[in-house]
Amino acid sequence: MPGKNGVLPQELKARGITRRDFTKFCASIAAILGLEASAIPEVAAAVTKASSLKPVVWLEAGSCSGCTESTAQADYPDVATIVLDILSVNYSETLMAAAGYTAAQAKEDTIHAGGYILIYEGSVMTAWDGAALMIGGPDGEQVKGTEELKVAAKGAEAIIAVGSCAVDGGWVAADPNPAGAMGVQKFLEQEGIKKPLINLPMCPVNPEHLVAVVIDYLLLGKVPALDEHLRPKLMFGQTIHDNCPRRGHFENGEFVYQFGSEEEAKGYCLYPMGCKGPQTKTNCPIVRWNKRVSWCVEAGAPCIGCGNLNWVDADGPFFKRMRNLEVLGGVQPTTIGLGVTGVVAAGLVVHGLGMKAAGRAGAANAGGPTEAVKEYDRKRAGKGGDQ
Ligand code: SF4
Ligand code: SF4
Repeated sequence: MPGKNGVLPQELKARGITRRDFTKFCASIAAILGLEASAIPEVAAAVTKASSLKPVVWLEAGSCSGCTESTAQADYPDVATIVLDILSVNYSETLMAAAGYTAAQAKEDTIHAGGYILIYEGSVMTAWDGAALMIGGPDGEQVKGTEELKVAAKGAEAIIAVGSCAVDGGWVAADPNPAGAMGVQKFLEQEGIKKPLINLPMCPVNPEHLVAVVIDYLLLGKVPALDEHLRPKLMFGQTIHDNCPRRGHFENGEFVYQFGSEEEAKGYCLYPMGCKGPQTKTNCPIVRWNKRVSWCVEAGAPCIGCGNLNWVDADGPFFKRMRNLEVLGGVQPTTIGLGVTGVVAAGLVVHGLGMKAAGRAGAANAGGPTEAVKEYDRKRAGKGGDQ
């Protein structure tokens, strides 16, 4: 997919995207980045010239290609798709038209030239000395996936690990993890390779997160402010629960206990149905999905916590309530605190006390059985939790 520098205005016009749509897109990116409205022209300028600034190499390892699919949305491209489309994505196994020698040569040439952004999708498969994932090399030889990552990482200016698989192994690393799957960060640390790295969890990556990070990098020339897990603070600093439109029902003790019920039809809180919103730090209620049309909880499904680290093992069973709000006459702070951030845990305790005072604490625990705290959680809490 050769770069098509400076073609954004024509591309937008050709695909029927108006200047108004483009401005709205830049405003949403500015909002995600925490910029004032006055920065929208600056964002627009950066987006317009994005294609001429950095080449991109997009590698896929142990993945389902869901992050590529999520980003491409090829059936109905929007501005975000086009921006990524016209970036100089010199190599992308799934998206590029070229194949075989031509494709491999494009990757080789870009890596040799250096100074590119490496987007890495999927887990790093380390079992059998890296032979768990073999990739075709330029001359038809078999190359270990781990070797491909080492070479690509060394030449990169910065790396963006997209999707939970690239961040910490994701579902590929779920117990018992026979392929030795792990995230890019852990692998590079083991190999002693130091590069600026941005982790963008979620399953799949939210394309708006990816576009915002790319624009931020192009605007500021550096990685954005990151938390202790190298996630952009602005996107992963608050919980789903903090911004959930059903939060009022949580406060009021109005819960759904059964799908298909009257409570579900009323849009009550999904906490008893296993919603992991209180312990999941990301901004789905704000950024949403599918071109900002909707997101899990708004569509009626509890958040299963795909933005969390180690989410498959830590958040299952997905449709079972994770914590019991009983004990202490309505609140169980030690239990709630397990695996939940201190701030969220404290918030839940306060809410629980409020619910108790209002005589509504029982509501959160009515309905189906609550899930016992797992031994895994106890051990993790002893280490201070995972967030
Ligand atoms: S528990 Fe889930 S559905 Fe309920 S308010 Fe929190 S995030 Fe929303
Ligand atoms: S609402 Fe929860 S499960 Fe849905 S995409 Fe966001 S973090 Fe993932």
